[in-house]
Amino acid sequence: MQKEYDYIIAGAGCAGLSLLMRMMNDSFFDNKKILVVDADTKNINDRTWCFWEKEPDIFEPIVHHQWNTLNFFSKDLSKELAIYPYSYKMIEGLTFYNFVKNNALLHANIHWINEKVINIVNDSSNRTAGIQLSNRSIFASKVFNSILFSPIQPQSHQYNFQQHFKGWVINTPKPSFNPGIATFMDFRVSQKHGTTFMYLLPTSTTSALVEYTLFTKDLLPQAAYDIALKEYIHDFLEINDYTIAHEEYGIIPMTNMKLPLVDENIVFIGIAGGQAKGSSGYAFKFIQKKTAQIINALKTGRTIPGKLSINATKGLLYDSTLLHVLHHQKMPGDQIFSDIFKFNNAANVLSFLDNESSFFTDLQIMSSVPTSIFLPAALKELLIKIYFH
Ligand SMILES: Cc1cc2nc3c(=O)[nH]c(=O)nc-3n(C[C@H](O)[C@H](O)[C@H](O)COP(=O)(O)OP(=O)(O)OC[C@H]3O[C@@H](n4cnc5c(N)ncnc54)[C@H](O)[C@@H]3O)c2cc1C
Repeated sequence: MQKEYDYIIAGAGCAGLSLLMRMMNDSFFDNKKILVVDADTKNINDRTWCFWEKEPDIFEPIVHHQWNTLNFFSKDLSKELAIYPYSYKMIEGLTFYNFVKNNALLHANIHWINEKVINIVNDSSNRTAGIQLSNRSIFASKVFNSILFSPIQPQSHQYNFQQHFKGWVINTPKPSFNPGIATFMDFRVSQKHGTTFMYLLPTSTTSALVEYTLFTKDLLPQAAYDIALKEYIHDFLEINDYTIAHEEYGIIPMTNMKLPLVDENIVFIGIAGGQAKGSSGYAFKFIQKKTAQIINALKTGRTIPGKLSINATKGLLYDSTLLHVLHHQKMPGDQIFSDIFKFNNAANVLSFLDNESSFFTDLQIMSSVPTSIFLPAALKELLIKIYFH
Protein backbone atom coordinates (compact mmCIF):
# COMPACT_ATOMS: atom_id res chain seq x y z
CA MET A 1 0.00 0.00 0.00
CA GLN A 2 1.12 3.54 -0.75
CA LYS A 3 2.51 5.25 2.29
CA GLU A 4 0.75 8.35 3.61
CA TYR A 5 3.18 9.01 6.47
CA ASP A 6 6.86 8.62 7.22
CA TYR A 7 6.15 7.29 10.70
CA ILE A 8 3.10 6.07 12.56
CA ILE A 9 3.26 5.94 16.35
CA ALA A 10 0.64 3.42 17.45
CA GLY A 11 -0.16 3.98 21.13
CA ALA A 12 0.34 7.41 22.72
CA GLY A 13 1.38 6.24 26.17
CA CYS A 14 4.79 6.41 27.76
CA ALA A 15 6.73 4.84 24.89
CA GLY A 16 4.83 6.43 21.99
CA LEU A 17 4.95 9.92 23.50
CA SER A 18 8.61 9.57 24.56
CA LEU A 19 9.47 8.73 20.95
CA LEU A 20 7.32 11.61 19.67
CA MET A 21 8.94 14.07 22.10
CA ARG A 22 12.40 13.04 20.93
CA MET A 23 11.31 13.49 17.29
CA MET A 24 9.93 16.95 18.07
CA ASN A 25 13.18 17.90 19.79
CA ASP A 26 15.23 17.11 16.68
CA SER A 27 15.07 19.18 13.49
CA PHE A 28 15.85 16.04 11.45
CA PHE A 29 12.16 15.12 11.88
CA ASP A 30 10.72 18.57 11.00
CA ASN A 31 9.94 17.53 7.43
CA LYS A 32 8.70 14.03 8.32
CA LYS A 33 4.97 13.32 8.34
CA ILE A 34 4.13 11.67 11.64
CA LEU A 35 0.80 10.14 12.67
CA VAL A 36 0.01 9.38 16.32
CA VAL A 37 -2.94 7.12 17.04
CA ASP A 38 -4.46 6.12 20.36
CA ALA A 39 -7.88 4.85 21.39
CA ASP A 40 -7.73 7.00 24.51
CA THR A 41 -7.61 10.79 24.85
CA LYS A 42 -4.94 10.59 27.61
CA ASN A 43 -6.75 13.12 29.80
CA ILE A 44 -6.52 11.25 33.09
CA ASN A 45 -3.75 11.15 35.66
CA ASP A 46 -3.68 7.33 35.51
CA ARG A 47 -0.10 6.69 36.69
CA THR A 48 2.93 8.14 38.41
CA TRP A 49 6.35 7.28 37.05
CA CYS A 50 9.40 6.99 39.27
CA PHE A 51 12.85 6.22 37.94
CA TRP A 52 16.47 7.04 38.65
CA GLU A 53 18.98 8.74 36.38
CA LYS A 54 22.37 10.41 36.56
CA GLU A 55 21.86 13.23 34.05
CA PRO A 56 18.71 15.21 33.30
CA ASP A 57 16.90 13.94 30.22
CA ILE A 58 14.13 15.41 28.03
CA PHE A 59 11.43 15.16 30.71
CA GLU A 60 13.39 17.09 33.35
CA PRO A 61 11.09 20.17 32.99
CA ILE A 62 8.13 18.12 34.25
CA VAL A 63 9.83 16.26 37.11
CA HIS A 64 7.39 16.72 39.99
CA HIS A 65 9.81 15.85 42.79
CA GLN A 66 13.21 14.22 43.21
CA TRP A 67 15.19 12.62 46.01
CA ASN A 68 18.91 11.98 46.50
CA THR A 69 18.40 9.70 49.49
CA LEU A 70 16.24 6.59 49.72
CA ASN A 71 15.26 4.40 52.64
CA PHE A 72 15.23 0.63 52.57
CA PHE A 73 13.48 -1.39 55.27
CA SER A 74 13.06 -5.10 55.87
CA LYS A 75 12.64 -7.20 59.01
CA ASP A 76 16.40 -7.22 59.60
CA LEU A 77 17.62 -4.08 57.82
CA SER A 78 16.94 -0.35 58.07
CA LYS A 79 19.29 1.50 55.78
CA GLU A 80 19.49 5.03 54.42
CA LEU A 81 20.81 4.83 50.87
CA ALA A 82 22.80 7.71 49.39
CA ILE A 83 22.28 7.16 45.68
CA TYR A 84 24.65 9.75 44.18
CA PRO A 85 25.33 10.06 41.21
CA TYR A 86 21.70 9.07 40.70
CA SER A 87 18.56 11.02 41.59
CA TYR A 88 15.24 9.28 42.08
CA LYS A 89 12.57 11.23 40.19
CA MET A 90 8.81 11.37 39.95
CA ILE A 91 6.68 12.42 36.96
CA GLU A 92 2.89 12.53 37.04
CA GLY A 93 1.12 10.83 34.13
CA LEU A 94 -1.23 13.67 33.17
CA THR A 95 1.56 16.26 33.26
CA PHE A 96 3.56 14.00 30.93
CA TYR A 97 0.68 13.51 28.45
CA ASN A 98 -0.13 17.27 28.41
CA PHE A 99 3.52 18.25 28.04
CA VAL A 100 3.93 16.17 24.88
CA LYS A 101 0.46 16.98 23.47
CA ASN A 102 1.01 20.74 23.92
CA ASN A 103 4.36 20.49 22.16
CA ALA A 104 2.75 18.56 19.31
CA LEU A 105 0.29 21.44 18.73
CA LEU A 106 3.27 23.53 17.59
CA HIS A 107 4.27 20.99 14.91
CA ALA A 108 2.23 21.03 11.70
CA ASN A 109 3.85 17.75 10.55
CA ILE A 110 2.28 15.80 13.43
CA HIS A 111 -1.27 14.47 13.05
CA TRP A 112 -3.28 12.85 15.78
CA ILE A 113 -6.10 10.30 15.49
CA ASN A 114 -8.21 9.21 18.44
CA GLU A 115 -9.26 5.72 17.28
CA LYS A 116 -8.83 2.08 18.14
CA VAL A 117 -6.19 0.22 16.13
CA ILE A 118 -7.45 -3.23 15.18
CA ASN A 119 -4.23 -4.63 13.78
CA ILE A 120 -0.79 -3.68 12.50
CA VAL A 121 0.57 -5.30 9.35
CA ASN A 122 3.64 -5.23 7.15
CA ASP A 123 3.42 -4.68 3.41
CA SER A 124 6.73 -6.27 2.44
CA SER A 125 6.47 -5.53 -1.29
CA ASN A 126 6.20 -1.79 -0.68
CA ARG A 127 8.53 -1.81 2.35
CA THR A 128 5.84 -0.19 4.47
CA ALA A 129 3.74 -1.09 7.47
CA GLY A 130 0.23 -0.01 8.31
CA ILE A 131 -2.40 0.28 10.98
CA GLN A 132 -5.86 -1.12 10.42
CA LEU A 133 -8.65 1.04 11.83
CA SER A 134 -12.37 0.15 11.78
CA ASN A 135 -12.96 1.57 8.29
CA ARG A 136 -9.54 2.08 6.69
CA SER A 137 -5.85 1.32 6.78
CA ILE A 138 -3.02 3.86 6.88
CA PHE A 139 0.55 3.07 5.85
CA ALA A 140 3.96 4.52 6.66
CA SER A 141 7.63 3.68 6.22
CA LYS A 142 7.68 2.53 9.82
CA VAL A 143 5.11 1.84 12.50
CA PHE A 144 6.29 2.18 16.11
CA ASN A 145 3.94 0.00 18.07
CA SER A 146 3.35 0.05 21.83
CA ILE A 147 -0.07 -1.60 21.67
CA LEU A 148 -0.34 -5.05 23.24
CA PHE A 149 -3.09 -6.72 21.21
CA SER A 150 -3.18 -9.74 23.52
CA PRO A 151 -1.81 -10.39 26.99
CA ILE A 152 1.81 -11.53 27.25
CA GLN A 153 1.72 -15.36 27.19
CA PRO A 154 5.02 -16.85 28.34
CA GLN A 155 5.80 -20.45 27.41
CA SER A 156 6.07 -23.21 30.01
CA HIS A 157 9.82 -22.67 30.55
CA GLN A 158 9.34 -18.93 31.12
CA TYR A 159 8.06 -17.08 34.18
CA ASN A 160 5.03 -14.88 34.43
CA PHE A 161 4.91 -12.83 37.60
CA GLN A 162 2.93 -9.64 37.84
CA GLN A 163 3.87 -6.51 39.67
CA HIS A 164 0.53 -5.23 40.94
CA PHE A 165 0.05 -2.25 43.14
CA LYS A 166 -2.33 0.31 44.49
CA GLY A 167 -1.17 3.78 45.46
CA TRP A 168 -2.80 6.61 47.39
CA VAL A 169 -1.64 10.20 47.49
CA ILE A 170 -2.47 11.17 51.06
CA ASN A 171 -2.58 14.65 52.52
CA THR A 172 -2.21 15.33 56.23
CA PRO A 173 -3.27 18.44 58.15
CA LYS A 174 -0.01 18.41 60.15
CA PRO A 175 3.59 17.95 58.85
CA SER A 176 4.11 14.17 58.71
CA PHE A 177 6.77 13.48 56.06
CA ASN A 178 10.34 14.32 55.15
CA PRO A 179 10.23 15.31 51.44
CA GLY A 180 14.02 14.82 51.25
CA ILE A 181 13.86 11.02 51.61
CA ALA A 182 11.73 8.49 49.72
CA THR A 183 11.22 4.90 50.83
CA PHE A 184 12.30 2.73 47.92
CA MET A 185 11.15 -0.55 49.48
CA ASP A 186 9.64 -1.28 52.87
CA PHE A 187 9.36 -5.04 53.31
CA ARG A 188 8.26 -4.91 56.96
CA VAL A 189 4.67 -5.60 55.83
CA SER A 190 3.21 -9.12 55.73
CA GLN A 191 4.80 -11.41 53.14
CA LYS A 192 1.92 -13.92 53.21
CA HIS A 193 1.06 -13.36 49.51
CA GLY A 194 4.71 -13.44 48.35
CA THR A 195 7.19 -10.60 47.73
CA THR A 196 5.38 -7.53 49.10
CA PHE A 197 6.54 -4.03 49.95
CA MET A 198 5.53 -0.41 50.28
CA TYR A 199 6.82 2.68 48.56
CA LEU A 200 6.58 6.02 50.36
CA LEU A 201 7.18 9.02 48.13
CA PRO A 202 6.75 12.29 50.05
CA THR A 203 6.54 15.42 47.91
CA SER A 204 6.06 17.84 50.83
CA THR A 205 5.78 17.64 54.61
CA THR A 206 2.04 17.07 54.26
CA SER A 207 1.68 15.00 51.07
CA ALA A 208 3.01 11.61 49.96
CA LEU A 209 2.27 8.78 47.56
CA VAL A 210 2.04 5.49 49.47
CA GLU A 211 2.01 2.41 47.28
CA TYR A 212 1.31 -1.23 48.23
CA THR A 213 3.21 -3.42 45.76
CA LEU A 214 3.43 -7.17 45.19
CA PHE A 215 5.48 -9.38 42.87
CA THR A 216 3.22 -12.44 42.62
CA LYS A 217 1.42 -14.55 40.04
CA ASP A 218 -2.11 -13.75 41.21
CA LEU A 219 -3.82 -10.44 41.83
CA LEU A 220 -5.62 -9.61 45.08
CA PRO A 221 -9.23 -8.50 45.52
CA GLN A 222 -9.35 -4.68 45.46
CA ALA A 223 -10.32 -4.47 49.15
CA ALA A 224 -7.07 -6.22 50.14
CA TYR A 225 -4.94 -3.38 48.70
CA ASP A 226 -7.03 -0.81 50.62
CA ILE A 227 -6.72 -2.72 53.89
CA ALA A 228 -2.93 -3.03 53.49
CA LEU A 229 -2.57 0.69 52.73
CA LYS A 230 -4.69 1.66 55.75
CA GLU A 231 -2.72 -0.64 58.04
CA TYR A 232 0.65 0.66 56.81
CA ILE A 233 -0.38 4.30 57.22
CA HIS A 234 -1.63 3.59 60.73
CA ASP A 235 0.97 1.08 61.99
CA PHE A 236 4.19 2.24 60.32
CA LEU A 237 3.65 5.89 59.43
CA GLU A 238 1.60 6.39 62.62
CA ILE A 239 -0.79 8.71 60.81
CA ASN A 240 -4.48 8.65 61.70
CA ASP A 241 -5.68 11.92 60.23
CA TYR A 242 -5.40 12.09 56.45
CA THR A 243 -7.38 12.45 53.23
CA ILE A 244 -6.86 10.49 50.01
CA ALA A 245 -6.27 13.02 47.22
CA HIS A 246 -5.66 10.53 44.40
CA GLU A 247 -5.50 6.77 43.80
CA GLU A 248 -3.90 4.63 41.14
CA TYR A 249 -3.79 0.94 40.41
CA GLY A 250 -1.50 -0.87 38.03
CA ILE A 251 -0.27 -4.22 36.80
CA ILE A 252 3.10 -4.58 35.10
CA PRO A 253 4.26 -7.88 33.57
CA MET A 254 7.38 -9.36 35.17
CA THR A 255 8.52 -11.98 32.73
CA ASN A 256 11.70 -13.30 31.14
CA MET A 257 9.85 -13.91 27.88
CA LYS A 258 11.68 -12.33 24.94
CA LEU A 259 9.26 -10.08 23.08
CA PRO A 260 9.88 -9.18 19.43
CA LEU A 261 11.84 -5.95 18.91
CA VAL A 262 11.40 -5.49 15.17
CA ASP A 263 9.29 -7.21 12.52
CA GLU A 264 10.24 -5.79 9.11
CA ASN A 265 8.82 -2.24 9.25
CA ILE A 266 7.12 -2.60 12.61
CA VAL A 267 9.24 -1.59 15.60
CA PHE A 268 7.96 -2.62 19.04
CA ILE A 269 8.39 -0.15 21.85
CA GLY A 270 7.39 0.08 25.50
CA ILE A 271 6.01 -2.92 27.33
CA ALA A 272 5.06 -4.44 23.95
CA GLY A 273 8.78 -4.31 23.10
CA GLY A 274 9.86 -5.99 26.36
CA GLN A 275 10.97 -2.80 28.10
CA ALA A 276 9.57 -3.63 31.54
CA LYS A 277 12.43 -5.16 33.49
CA GLY A 278 11.53 -8.71 34.48
CA SER A 279 12.93 -8.51 37.99
CA SER A 280 11.67 -5.06 38.98
CA GLY A 281 8.84 -3.95 36.65
CA TYR A 282 10.60 -0.60 36.09
CA ALA A 283 10.10 0.48 32.47
CA PHE A 284 10.29 4.29 32.23
CA LYS A 285 14.07 4.59 31.94
CA PHE A 286 14.34 1.58 29.60
CA ILE A 287 11.76 3.26 27.38
CA GLN A 288 13.84 6.47 27.37
CA LYS A 289 16.99 4.58 26.40
CA LYS A 290 15.19 2.64 23.67
CA THR A 291 13.49 5.68 22.12
CA ALA A 292 16.80 7.61 22.14
CA GLN A 293 18.44 4.64 20.38
CA ILE A 294 15.66 4.59 17.74
CA ILE A 295 16.08 8.32 17.05
CA ASN A 296 19.80 7.81 16.61
CA ALA A 297 19.28 4.93 14.19
CA LEU A 298 16.71 6.84 12.10
CA LYS A 299 18.99 9.87 11.84
CA THR A 300 22.08 7.93 10.87
CA GLY A 301 20.26 5.53 8.54
CA ARG A 302 21.34 2.55 10.62
CA THR A 303 19.10 -0.46 11.19
CA ILE A 304 17.06 -0.43 14.38
CA PRO A 305 18.45 -3.40 16.34
CA GLY A 306 16.24 -6.49 16.18
CA LYS A 307 18.30 -8.27 18.83
CA LEU A 308 19.03 -7.53 22.46
CA SER A 309 22.34 -5.84 23.27
CA ILE A 310 24.95 -7.76 25.26
CA ASN A 311 24.01 -5.83 28.41
CA ALA A 312 20.30 -6.50 27.91
CA THR A 313 20.98 -10.20 27.30
CA LYS A 314 23.02 -10.33 30.50
CA GLY A 315 20.21 -8.47 32.33
CA LEU A 316 17.67 -10.96 31.02
CA LEU A 317 19.70 -13.84 32.43
CA TYR A 318 19.85 -12.13 35.85
CA ASP A 319 16.08 -11.45 35.68
CA SER A 320 15.45 -15.09 34.76
CA THR A 321 17.57 -16.18 37.73
CA LEU A 322 15.65 -14.03 40.20
CA LEU A 323 12.29 -15.12 38.76
CA HIS A 324 13.48 -18.76 38.92
CA VAL A 325 14.34 -18.39 42.63
CA LEU A 326 10.97 -16.74 43.36
CA HIS A 327 8.99 -19.21 41.23
CA HIS A 328 10.60 -22.24 42.91
CA GLN A 329 10.36 -20.52 46.30
CA LYS A 330 14.05 -21.09 47.01
CA MET A 331 14.34 -17.81 48.93
CA PRO A 332 11.76 -15.14 49.79
CA GLY A 333 11.97 -11.88 47.84
CA ASP A 334 12.23 -9.67 50.95
CA GLN A 335 15.36 -11.54 52.03
CA ILE A 336 16.92 -11.33 48.56
CA PHE A 337 16.50 -7.55 48.30
CA SER A 338 17.56 -7.15 51.92
CA ASP A 339 20.83 -9.02 51.29
CA ILE A 340 21.49 -7.03 48.12
CA PHE A 341 20.99 -3.66 49.82
CA LYS A 342 22.78 -4.71 53.01
CA PHE A 343 26.05 -5.65 51.31
CA ASN A 344 26.23 -3.31 48.32
CA ASN A 345 26.59 0.33 47.51
CA ALA A 346 23.12 1.60 46.51
CA ALA A 347 24.31 3.31 43.31
CA ASN A 348 25.86 0.01 42.19
CA VAL A 349 22.55 -1.76 42.82
CA LEU A 350 20.71 0.87 40.77
CA SER A 351 23.17 0.48 37.88
CA PHE A 352 22.72 -3.32 38.14
CA LEU A 353 18.93 -2.93 37.94
CA ASP A 354 19.47 -0.69 34.89
CA ASN A 355 21.55 -3.41 33.12
CA GLU A 356 24.44 -0.93 33.15
CA SER A 357 26.76 -2.37 35.81
CA SER A 358 30.25 -3.68 35.13
CA PHE A 359 30.87 -7.42 35.33
CA PHE A 360 32.85 -6.79 38.53
CA THR A 361 29.81 -5.08 40.13
CA ASP A 362 27.60 -7.93 38.92
CA LEU A 363 29.87 -10.39 40.70
CA GLN A 364 29.81 -8.32 43.90
CA ILE A 365 26.02 -8.18 43.86
CA MET A 366 25.68 -11.87 43.04
CA SER A 367 28.02 -12.82 45.86
CA SER A 368 25.83 -10.92 48.34
CA VAL A 369 23.01 -13.47 47.90
CA PRO A 370 23.51 -17.17 48.75
CA THR A 371 25.49 -18.70 45.87
CA SER A 372 24.18 -22.18 46.81
CA ILE A 373 20.75 -20.93 45.67
CA PHE A 374 21.55 -18.45 42.92
CA LEU A 375 24.36 -20.26 41.08
CA PRO A 376 22.35 -23.43 40.28
CA ALA A 377 19.38 -21.23 39.33
CA ALA A 378 21.56 -19.16 36.97
CA LEU A 379 23.07 -22.30 35.40
CA LYS A 380 19.63 -23.83 34.85
CA GLU A 381 18.39 -20.62 33.22
CA LEU A 382 21.48 -20.49 31.02
CA LEU A 383 20.90 -24.07 29.86
CA ILE A 384 17.21 -23.33 29.20
CA LYS A 385 18.25 -20.31 27.12
CA ILE A 386 20.73 -22.34 25.09
CA TYR A 387 18.22 -25.19 24.58
CA PHE A 388 15.33 -22.97 23.45
CA HIS A 389 17.45 -20.56 21.42
C1 LIG B 1 -0.16 2.70 37.29
C2 LIG B 1 1.22 2.41 36.73
C3 LIG B 1 2.34 2.97 37.34
C4 LIG B 1 3.62 2.71 36.83
N1 LIG B 1 4.70 3.25 37.47
C5 LIG B 1 5.93 3.04 36.96
C6 LIG B 1 7.07 3.64 37.58
O1 LIG B 1 6.95 4.32 38.61
N2 LIG B 1 8.29 3.45 37.02
C7 LIG B 1 8.45 2.71 35.89
O2 LIG B 1 9.59 2.59 35.41
N3 LIG B 1 7.40 2.09 35.30
C8 LIG B 1 6.15 2.24 35.81
N4 LIG B 1 5.08 1.64 35.19
C9 LIG B 1 5.34 0.73 34.08
C10 LIG B 1 5.47 1.43 32.72
O3 LIG B 1 6.39 2.49 32.78
C11 LIG B 1 4.12 1.97 32.23
O4 LIG B 1 3.19 0.92 32.13
C12 LIG B 1 4.23 2.68 30.89
O5 LIG B 1 3.07 3.44 30.71
C13 LIG B 1 4.43 1.70 29.74
O6 LIG B 1 4.48 2.42 28.55
P1 LIG B 1 3.87 1.85 27.19
O7 LIG B 1 3.96 2.94 26.21
O8 LIG B 1 4.45 0.54 26.90
O9 LIG B 1 2.34 1.55 27.53
P2 LIG B 1 1.20 2.62 27.81
O10 LIG B 1 1.73 3.80 28.48
O11 LIG B 1 0.11 1.84 28.49
O12 LIG B 1 0.73 3.05 26.35
C14 LIG B 1 0.03 2.20 25.47
C15 LIG B 1 -1.00 3.05 24.75
O13 LIG B 1 -1.67 2.26 23.78
C16 LIG B 1 -3.04 2.65 23.76
N5 LIG B 1 -3.79 1.53 23.19
C17 LIG B 1 -3.92 0.28 23.71
N6 LIG B 1 -4.65 -0.48 22.86
C18 LIG B 1 -4.95 0.30 21.79
C19 LIG B 1 -5.64 0.06 20.56
N7 LIG B 1 -6.13 -1.15 20.24
N8 LIG B 1 -5.75 1.08 19.69
C20 LIG B 1 -5.23 2.31 19.95
N9 LIG B 1 -4.57 2.59 21.10
C21 LIG B 1 -4.42 1.58 22.00
C22 LIG B 1 -3.37 2.95 25.20
O14 LIG B 1 -4.49 3.81 25.30
C23 LIG B 1 -2.09 3.60 25.69
O15 LIG B 1 -2.13 5.00 25.57
C24 LIG B 1 3.79 1.87 35.69
C25 LIG B 1 2.66 1.29 35.11
C26 LIG B 1 1.39 1.56 35.62
C27 LIG B 1 0.19 0.88 34.98
